Amino acid sequence: MSLTTTPDLATQIADAIDGQSIVDMHTHLYPPSFGTPSAPTGADANGLMLYGINELLTYHYLVAELFRVVSPSEVSVADFWAMDKTAQADLIWHKLFLDRSPISEAARGVLTTLQKLGLDPGDRDLAGYRRWFDEQDPDKHIDRVMELSHVESITMTNAVFDDNERQRWLDNPAVGDDPRFTAVLRFDPLLCDWPAAAAKLAEWGYDVKVDIDDKTVTEVRRFLGEWLDRTKSIYAAVSLGPDYRYGEGRHGSAKWADGNRILTQAVLPACAERNLPFAMMIGSARGVNPALRDAGDMGFVADVPSVTELCRDFPDNKFFVTMLSRENQHELAVAARKFGNLMVFGCWWFLNNPSLIEQITRLRVELLGVSFIPQHSDCRVLEQLIYKWDHSRTVIAKVLTDKYADIAATGWRIGEDELARDVKLYLRDNFLNFLKR
Ligand SMILES: [Zn+2]
Repeated sequence: MSLTTTPDLATQIADAIDGQSIVDMHTHLYPPSFGTPSAPTGADANGLMLYGINELLTYHYLVAELFRVVSPSEVSVADFWAMDKTAQADLIWHKLFLDRSPISEAARGVLTTLQKLGLDPGDRDLAGYRRWFDEQDPDKHIDRVMELSHVESITMTNAVFDDNERQRWLDNPAVGDDPRFTAVLRFDPLLCDWPAAAAKLAEWGYDVKVDIDDKTVTEVRRFLGEWLDRTKSIYAAVSLGPDYRYGEGRHGSAKWADGNRILTQAVLPACAERNLPFAMMIGSARGVNPALRDAGDMGFVADVPSVTELCRDFPDNKFFVTMLSRENQHELAVAARKFGNLMVFGCWWFLNNPSLIEQITRLRVELLGVSFIPQHSDCRVLEQLIYKWDHSRTVIAKVLTDKYADIAATGWRIGEDELARDVKLYLRDNFLNFLKR
């Protein structure tokens, strides 16, 4: 059946999107093998698999919103960090859900999540929600959450310079073998803080010097190769500040000389050798308000020419790039028109709001057609998959409805199979095909 003959294009598109399983290309989620701090039994205080209502309520997006509405005389930031997680969650629930309405995207997300899990947000029964989450077996709960969020595969972010995570890989080589999850090697210090990274590498037995020489480059490649293999990473990744600069003589690039040498002589060759993409998430300014910890970061405008020059200088490498500033999105989408080895993805962090997802997705469809990755979740807490994908699906469907209506108006007839094909590219195959490219 041709969609131009059906009365409700919007319904057809929403159904196609709802019927397509998603490969989520960037999260901070982990399987139970990495430890579960919130599990009622067998809890591992430093475990990495976060789930449950306390974690949902203490998400750093909501911590930031809490300190908009409590005064220091009422609860200081230091008081908040001294509380246990249950008390922090109680405070956030009280201040952001009961004392005022939870209409921010992060607060609304908790309500969508409860609703889809079959709990009634209308009950406002925090103790009841806690009891329900406590009854869930973490492993089976992952299956349920993936089913509800239509996610078939979860991509982790595996920070090799995080001692807690690194030790788990060394203690148990099978820690990453859960078939629902894939690994991504993340190593920000190699590019952003070479002296600190070099000290760690030396401690771990690699023959590296702070003054980078050829031997150091060889050793960094050996380190990367060992860890890409150990984790079976499907790509490699860093997050970079808005001040990141690549390119001969580019203003500000001098402070990145070490990082760029490691990038171009060790990281990119290691990726090219394995045909792995390299992901750059650019624009995060860490610790703008350090007292707020994870909630104290923000984003500023980054430098798109640094990306185009990398894509030009390294045609045998593949780059996933997302940027945190709305102001970068147009230039970045245009850059992707120039380089087939550049895959633009997602609406990151402060851009993961319906109004901005809509604007950015429209712009990308108009410039890039069906050749980009519209969204990733960036979840830190398991059940966030439910709301982040539910809210994004709705917005993507709205944008696509307009775009298909525009071509249908010319007389172009779109088959249901063609619509399903395009949606599959957006939510799954553009990512998987780029890995194989
Ligand atoms: Zn992230």
